[in-house]
Amino acid sequence: MGIDRREFLKIVGASAVFALGGMTIVDAIMNDNAEAAQYTPEPGALVAKQWAMVIDVRKFKTEEDYKRVINACNSIHNIPDFGESKDEVKWIWTDTFEHAFPEQQEPELMQESLKELPFLLLCNHCKNPPCVRVCPTKATFKRSDGIVMQDMHRCIGCRFCMAACPYGSRSFNWKDPRPHIKNENPDYPTRTKGVVEKCTFCVERLAKGLMPACVEASNGAILFGDITDPNSEVRKALSSNYAIRRKPELGTGPNIYYIIGGGSDNA
Ligand code: SF4
Ligand code: SF4
Ligand code: SF4
Repeated sequence: MGIDRREFLKIVGASAVFALGGMTIVDAIMNDNAEAAQYTPEPGALVAKQWAMVIDVRKFKTEEDYKRVINACNSIHNIPDFGESKDEVKWIWTDTFEHAFPEQQEPELMQESLKELPFLLLCNHCKNPPCVRVCPTKATFKRSDGIVMQDMHRCIGCRFCMAACPYGSRSFNWKDPRPHIKNENPDYPTRTKGVVEKCTFCVERLAKGLMPACVEASNGAILFGDITDPNSEVRKALSSNYAIRRKPELGTGPNIYYIIGGGSDNA
């Protein structure tokens, strides 16, 4: 999946790291390769100007509903289970309302029962992603359809992106993940020690015309679509329901919405 920055530096030598209009020559080359590292869309691939996800919190009724969604992501993406929370690698996980939305000033708009529920969290595929701005190797970059990508081959593990993400959406592989993957999916790459990873909005599935795995496993509780299209399911759901996003005041423009009230399904 493209050139590795460390290998590249070894080949060209440190002398190549000279300024090129504010950018080093290495950065310029890495930038070009970052775009090329995207999954090639097949005929029938799902496309959008800006992908977004809408999670209808009211439709998650049992522990099993959350587990089914999380397991769908974990199993197809070879996410390791180290058995210890300090080493945890997580692409989609749950947390309390209080932790997920510390800034929410209007909790009275929510029903008591919703405040007690776990909330599914994942990378917000932000419109203005701070993680992309700080990445020195372009291992993290934004695609033209708004998906914030993570190229594990290009990642040098500096963790600047983890410090920059205000949502804790990225995980670092402190150990070799491979021995900790139960039932490896041979169709998806595994990672190595020393790289960062996160949700990729299932780009590999979109390229084949499939919805993200968590959406498919959610039985209609998670919607996915083009937020710029007024006829998309996500836009329709947002126009008739009350939804919130995580920390919108930071200006990152999160593209994950949480429906917590309104509409005909209001419980
Ligand atoms: S949620 Fe974090 S990792 Fe995801 S795009 Fe936003 S800043 Fe980057
Ligand atoms: S750790 Fe993050 S910031 Fe550093 S190279 Fe990897 S993706 Fe980029
Ligand atoms: S969109 Fe795909 S990668 Fe992201 S959490 Fe859902 S299943 Fe995992």
